[in-house]
Amino acid sequence: PVKDGEEHLFNPKTIDLLQESLINGDYAKYKEYSKAIRNDYHVTLRSLMELNYPVGGGIPIEEVEPEESIVKRFKAGAMSYGAISKEAHEAIAIAMNRLGSTSNSGEGGEDVARFKPLPNGDSMNSEVKQIASGRFGVTANYLIHAKELQIKCAQGAKPGEGGQLPGKKVYPEIGKARHSTPGVELVSPPPHHDIYSIEDLAELIYDLKCINKDARISVKLTSEAGVGTIAAGVAKAKADNILISGYDGGTGAAGRTSVKHAGVPWELGLSETHQTLMLNRLRDRVKLEVDSKLMTGFDVAVAAMLGAELFGFGTLPLVAVGCKMARVCNLNTCPYGVATQDEKLRARFTGKPEYVENLMIFIARELREIMARLGIRSVAELVGRIDLVRQKSQDDNFKLSRVDLKRVLFHPYIDASVGHM
Ligand code: SF4
Repeated sequence: PVKDGEEHLFNPKTIDLLQESLINGDYAKYKEYSKAIRNDYHVTLRSLMELNYPVGGGIPIEEVEPEESIVKRFKAGAMSYGAISKEAHEAIAIAMNRLGSTSNSGEGGEDVARFKPLPNGDSMNSEVKQIASGRFGVTANYLIHAKELQIKCAQGAKPGEGGQLPGKKVYPEIGKARHSTPGVELVSPPPHHDIYSIEDLAELIYDLKCINKDARISVKLTSEAGVGTIAAGVAKAKADNILISGYDGGTGAAGRTSVKHAGVPWELGLSETHQTLMLNRLRDRVKLEVDSKLMTGFDVAVAAMLGAELFGFGTLPLVAVGCKMARVCNLNTCPYGVATQDEKLRARFTGKPEYVENLMIFIARELREIMARLGIRSVAELVGRIDLVRQKSQDDNFKLSRVDLKRVLFHPYIDASVGHM
């Protein structure tokens, strides 16, 4: 709880525990952090859920997919160079590339120097490159240096709004990467002005496949009522991945009104999308990804059970490299050198790729422990296993006892109402 009485999952206690664990590579401390997140607060839908562990026990942990393989499903979320500092952006990219996973350029291009590997074998190249409505920095050279091209249709934290970068953060090097004018505020339009239908989207997907035939094409949607129908259209437009982004996260540069009043939790959008794709026999055409404040192995387990196969982390890697949630990202005054372009503040940056690597490994380790207890051998086996999660009894809490998660925890192939399937 903070002084205004609102509960925050990230607070001084959880931030300190997490940062200490990552700096020292201390898994026991990470478990303290994870326990604090799980036990102290009821601010998420998943905190109202518990897992259905089998009565006879699970399987030996050695039989479960190794951590190194699990982390390949973890991705760093889209945060642009400009919103965050060069040091933070590069540290996260190096860490994710070392793990064989991906980081995301975010909206706003990338310095071409990062496309070449470093002499020590590391790479600062963001393997996922975003195509957002402002199209800043989207050049042919940018597009061919990606393993995945992500069309951002909306942002979970501020659905209906485009990205915003205040003029004071548009330093000359940022302007260069974005092919824009330094000092001038960059506000992306809410929609892509060439996409007003699924057919338009299909055309852009086709164009992107033409320029980079090896890249997977992902479409980022936001969690909202009806997103399942949109996702069905996106699958038909031949996207390879669909990302469902919830309302948490990405809030650094979002307006106060959006932070407080827009968007819905990923649990709702993800389960609706998974169910709709199943019922329309489209589920096998796409991979489903989810992001928005996934914070622990438990969160990832629930996301997989609700249908996700890939998992994005935005705020967490920022905390790993030093963010303490001062929440002034849009002011260019981040005291930890994470979300600022000011050279003096950037000099204070203390983050290292190793901390982000520890973060991903620890989450994978925790997930692996959960899978062993559940008797599940791989993440692939866990996807869509809605039978392994249930709503907690909240008899002691009148308000929470009135929350009904039946429709979220619904399996379209098991339920009698769709028995004809
Ligand atoms: S410390 Fe504050 S300003 Fe810096 S990245 Fe974190 S939330 Fe943003």
